[in-house]
Amino acid sequence: MKNIRDDFFDKQNCDRCNSPIPVRIMSWFTNETICIPCSIAEGEIKRALPDNGRHYEGCGYLPKIEKVIS
Ligand SMILES: [Zn+2]
Repeated sequence: MKNIRDDFFDKQNCDRCNSPIPVRIMSWFTNETICIPCSIAEGEIKRALPDNGRHYEGCGYLPKIEKVIS
C-alpha cells in the first residue's frame, strides 16, 4: 500500500496543470503535488482569505475568492 508521502516523491508532473515538476510542492489546500506556478497561485488565494488561509490547510479544495478590492 502506498502512502501519500511515497506518492509525493514519485510524481513527475504537477497534479493540477500537468507540467513537469523539478521541484515538488505539497498543496496547502489539498494533498496534490503541485509545481511552482500553481503554488504561487495558491499563495495568492491564501493571502486573499481571512487569516491568510490558515484555517484552510488540507481542506481538500481550492477556495474560491472574490476579487479583492484594495
Ligand atoms: Zn502546476
